[in-house]
Amino acid sequence: YLSFFLLAAAAVLAYMWRDTFDAESVRGSRVLVTGASKGIGEQMAYHYARFGANIVITARGEDGLKKVAQKCVKLGAQKVSYVTGDMSDPADPDRVIKYTLDKLGGLDYLVLNHVGSSYIEFWNRDSDHVRTLMQVNFVSYVQMTAAALPVMEKSRGAIIVISSVAGKLASPYVAPYTSTKFAVNGFFNTLQHELAIQKSNVSVTIMILGLIDTETALDKIKGFSSMTAYPAGEAALSIIKAAATRQKEAFYPWFHYFTCLFRDWFPFIKDLMLSDLNKQ
Ligand code: NDP
Repeated sequence: YLSFFLLAAAAVLAYMWRDTFDAESVRGSRVLVTGASKGIGEQMAYHYARFGANIVITARGEDGLKKVAQKCVKLGAQKVSYVTGDMSDPADPDRVIKYTLDKLGGLDYLVLNHVGSSYIEFWNRDSDHVRTLMQVNFVSYVQMTAAALPVMEKSRGAIIVISSVAGKLASPYVAPYTSTKFAVNGFFNTLQHELAIQKSNVSVTIMILGLIDTETALDKIKGFSSMTAYPAGEAALSIIKAAATRQKEAFYPWFHYFTCLFRDWFPFIKDLMLSDLNKQ
């Protein structure tokens, strides 16, 4: 019976995760990628460029954006522009969306990826940091969604929010970051339901990422964790595929689907793992 159950479960998962992505569906589409001056956002911009999309990228630093934009042109993007914006400033999310709509004349993919800097240590009682990080990592996502939704309704658009296993599973040393990602998951999961009830044309994909080998992440975990970090280019491609195939929730690497299931099925395993981390 056990073998039969395992085989049936494997067959269901293989069906759920089959690759139905058609690169042609992205050609000519209008895309905004936030936090695209480095890391996973930069890699997403390159993939969208290879697929022949029209792209706007944004972040705070102009130099990084300029370099990424130039490479996107070489890789085959139909059109590329960049706009600087600081998502800790409540005026900037709307300004960036307005710029994008002016440049592209509409929007098919809104990729919410930027992330503010935070620390890895015990919570230091600095509530101002939590407030600012909430604006950057969460409230600005909501603001951009609010500004883009009416236009995306017309284009049958897709919103992609980049979240984390840290937004599903509370662990020590990252209280401010974890809170922002839990907020992202809660808000956008609710929005998925509400859009479905309203028979909206817009899809929302929540992407749950494990540790990815970006410079920022590797710098931050030095001395804290020896976990394997997975390649940013692959993570970026899996995000683009999940959005294009309008998945509600997707995981990279795939096994974090089980990490999140086990959190609820076997909470004692999670507590045991984390108690080991506490002893470091
Ligand atoms: P990076 O630090 O490499 O890149 C962050 C991007 O956000 C940069 O382009 C940065 O550019 C921009 N940014 C930072 N602050 C602001 C701000 N205030 N306003 C506007 N833009 C800003 O991050 P990653 O690529 O590692 O992460 C990308 C996403 O993936 C994030 O949402 C993160 O939470 C998620 N994730 C990453 C994991 C990992 O291990 N790397 C694991 C799980 C989730 P600039 O500084 O010029 O503004």
